[in-house]
Amino acid sequence: RLAENGGASLATPSTSPEAEWDDSIGYFVKKKLRVWCRPRNDQWELAKIKSTVGEAATVMLLDGSAVKVSTGDLLPANTEILDGVDDLIELGYLNEPSVLHNLQYRYARDVIYSKAGPVLLAINPFKDVQIFGSDFITAYREKILDNPHVSILTFGNYHKSQWCMLYLIFYLHPLLYSGESGSGKTETAKIAMQYLASVGGENCEMACKVIQSSCILEAFGNAKTSRNCNSSRFVGSIPSEFCAVQGKLIDIRYSAEGTICGACIQTISNFDIVQARVSQICRGERSYHIFYQICAGAPSALKDRLNLKMASEYKLLNQSGCLKINGADDSHNFKMLMEAFDILGIPREDQENVFELLAAILWLGNISFEAIDKRDALAQFVYESLFSWLVGEINRSLEGGKQHTERTISIIDMYGFESLQLAVSSHMTGSFLYFQKNSFQQFFINYADERLQQHFIRHLCKLEQEEYELDGIHWKKVDFEDNQECLDLFEKGSKSSTATDVTFTNKIKRHLSSNLRFSCERGVFRVRHYAGEVQYDATGFLERSSDTLHFNTIQLLSSSRKKLLNIFASGVMNPSQTTGLAASDSHEQSVGAKFKDQLFKLIHKLENSKPHFIRCIRPNTKQLPGMYEKDIVLEQLRCSGVMEIVQISKSRFPIRLTHQEFATRFGCLLSENIICMDPLSTSVAILQQCRVSPQTYQVGYTKLFFRVGQVEVLENLRQRVL
Ligand code: ADP
Ligand code: MG
Repeated sequence: RLAENGGASLATPSTSPEAEWDDSIGYFVKKKLRVWCRPRNDQWELAKIKSTVGEAATVMLLDGSAVKVSTGDLLPANTEILDGVDDLIELGYLNEPSVLHNLQYRYARDVIYSKAGPVLLAINPFKDVQIFGSDFITAYREKILDNPHVSILTFGNYHKSQWCMLYLIFYLHPLLYSGESGSGKTETAKIAMQYLASVGGENCEMACKVIQSSCILEAFGNAKTSRNCNSSRFVGSIPSEFCAVQGKLIDIRYSAEGTICGACIQTISNFDIVQARVSQICRGERSYHIFYQICAGAPSALKDRLNLKMASEYKLLNQSGCLKINGADDSHNFKMLMEAFDILGIPREDQENVFELLAAILWLGNISFEAIDKRDALAQFVYESLFSWLVGEINRSLEGGKQHTERTISIIDMYGFESLQLAVSSHMTGSFLYFQKNSFQQFFINYADERLQQHFIRHLCKLEQEEYELDGIHWKKVDFEDNQECLDLFEKGSKSSTATDVTFTNKIKRHLSSNLRFSCERGVFRVRHYAGEVQYDATGFLERSSDTLHFNTIQLLSSSRKKLLNIFASGVMNPSQTTGLAASDSHEQSVGAKFKDQLFKLIHKLENSKPHFIRCIRPNTKQLPGMYEKDIVLEQLRCSGVMEIVQISKSRFPIRLTHQEFATRFGCLLSENIICMDPLSTSVAILQQCRVSPQTYQVGYTKLFFRVGQVEVLENLRQRVL
């Protein structure tokens, strides 16, 4: 019965890639096909084979010139038809030049999103690429458009089916952004938010609030360094922005109807690790944006009331010799900030209080007396408290009235790997050199990055391969680098963090001398991270950012007539009281402990959910549009494990059903006489009777593994039989 009506269509000849491409280069040489060669320098170039004599081949490059190369140095290239495929796994050949070429081909056409199996790659365009507008959403709803986009990960395999299935997968699906600093994580997170808002029902107000909240967090939590003003002068990955907020987790909550009904933001901040940016800033750098914004953009009434002067009048701001950033309009940004406050519904009175405190901090910096450390500690404390309080207020505003369900989509935006190197800076007085050392801040940023990388690798490679092996299916193992060793290093290293700089170095040296990823010389130690080697300078590693706050100072604050100062003070005096200052005992904790604690919570949350990964890629170091530096891109693809993931995904069997599930579901496809066997035999019988191509499935001990699309074919058959 089946063989007649449906079986034939199932027996589509699906050739295994291995069979066709086995002796690839020989085949290419024989057929004179497109190849990759490196005739001039290290850069791969496309060429066509003209002729061969023994091991030597004459190839024609794209510019028409002919060169001689050794056949052993060639790599197969994909045919033109495959140029610019949406998903890298569609490429016949997955060698590095082919992958790079495909991404470049797309990038040159402003197609910044591509898939790498289950991972979405987003290459920073450094310019507006208009793929995201209401037209896009409409087209998407009507399923005209099928390009990879932020949305695809959100909707996984459902993107081709019914739109109303959307909310089925709203349950705890974090979108995880990772990538180097400046690669576009924050922007991509915003785009995803906008997308979720525009498809998340009528209530765009909530999403709009969430987007506005990042404007506030950025103003208060970020500080631009001037080093990237003229980035062409710099070597290596100098971060474009200094962030006290190293990570942000946004939970978007959905109602039973599938509309956005609330949100919650958690920050992973390290105010206690970073140098006290409020009171001390290095030459050429700036303090937090908000200070310059308020000085430049406060309306005159506010200016008068707070007696605000220009930024240059404040010691806290003018000490570094850098007050402006090219391309940033502080005054305009302050207006945007006030708008954001309004959109979030922060009462005007509270806004005034916030501005008052900012002015107070600025004026405090101008006072001098023989206890300056205490002054700085006070300024730092008020600022940090203000930040935590703001996060609390933002969340209050995002809570939303409606009852939310368990369904949430979480967006995680983490600060990426960072390694500071020798930087050359230009200055009004001429050029000078200065050395940026990697210290505790980078140590922790890189630790967080390393943890997330482990989750990424484990989730996508390790677990998958282990499952195949456990279930005994035929599987060509792909090797990948696990970074557990590096994490051990951090775990052990940071346990010693109550020591002094010298004992710290000695301790980790003793603990880690056998760790292959670690080396140490005097006050300097090197760690081989998955993303590259970083040299850390342990001098000043464990210095507290600010002096400990004296009880006197706290008492002073609590006697103030200002509501906010009272709240901040009572947060320290009664830690049990929730004031937004959750870890008010942070001054007793070892440096960085709070950060680590926050990070563990995040990882725990991740481990209990099904993440979708977005890898943001920085196509050049100069932050310029239209510039694709192959070696920079390749470095990031290699480091992040994307190459291995593509390989695994290409030969992947993502759909799994237990024999029992399969037999129950598709048993109806069998002729009656063989129905009463054990689930495994039933399953095999079904597959054989339906003539499912053996290339598209594997039979494991407990489960059946299918390639994408195969189960749908069986499902269609089933519909016909029922
Ligand atoms: P990260 O968070 O990874 O450090 P950002 O998201 O802040 O990086 O991006 C750095 C800069 O790159 C942004 O300020 C913006 O100018 C540009 N950028 C990033 N993503 C995009 C995008 N999708 N479209 C246009 N410009 C972008
Ligand atoms: Mg960012």
